[in-house]
Amino acid sequence: MIEEKIKGVIRDVIDFPKPGIVFKDITPIMLDPKLSKEIVDHLVSIYKDQNLDKIAGIESRGFLFGYPLAMELGIPFVLIRKAGKLPYHKISHSYDLEYGSATIEMHIDAVQKGEKVLIHDDLLATGGSASAAAELIQKCGGEVAGFNFLVGLNFLNGIEKLKNYSNNITNLVI
Ligand code: 5GP
Repeated sequence: MIEEKIKGVIRDVIDFPKPGIVFKDITPIMLDPKLSKEIVDHLVSIYKDQNLDKIAGIESRGFLFGYPLAMELGIPFVLIRKAGKLPYHKISHSYDLEYGSATIEMHIDAVQKGEKVLIHDDLLATGGSASAAAELIQKCGGEVAGFNFLVGLNFLNGIEKLKNYSNNITNLVI
């Protein structure tokens, strides 16, 4: 099972990026090209018949599998980035963090009215980043077709936040 294989390589890094946090390090996946390909193939099997128009990936680990997935599905890939990184005209959305706030951006012409967009990231924690991405898609008139994550930290209840945008939420690993 793909879930077991992913679980087998992801490692817990204690006290990163600050004391008390157990960070799920997904980088060993990228050291395993066979598993990486299996993950992309698995994602394709989930999404190939969902009539998606675009995949939007959240910086930066959301680019790792979001873009290959979009290419395999033959649909465009949209970059959602932290403030100040994208060069062209863009729209922004700010959201609250535990301490302070964050802003993400997307190019103004990346999503058109009525397009069905799947939002992808490596990991779902509180759902703050993915909800902010959903707000950006909606600001452009796009439709949030669903959310996909390699890993979902269910104890943080991020899924509840995302249900405001779509009930089509998939984590490969919980
Ligand atoms: P959220 O916005 O859901 O609270 O946090 C998810 C975002 O933070 C994602 O963009 C994800 O890449 C990053 N993130 C938070 N915790 C972790 C973690 O333990 N492992 C990894 N790989 N990313 C994390």
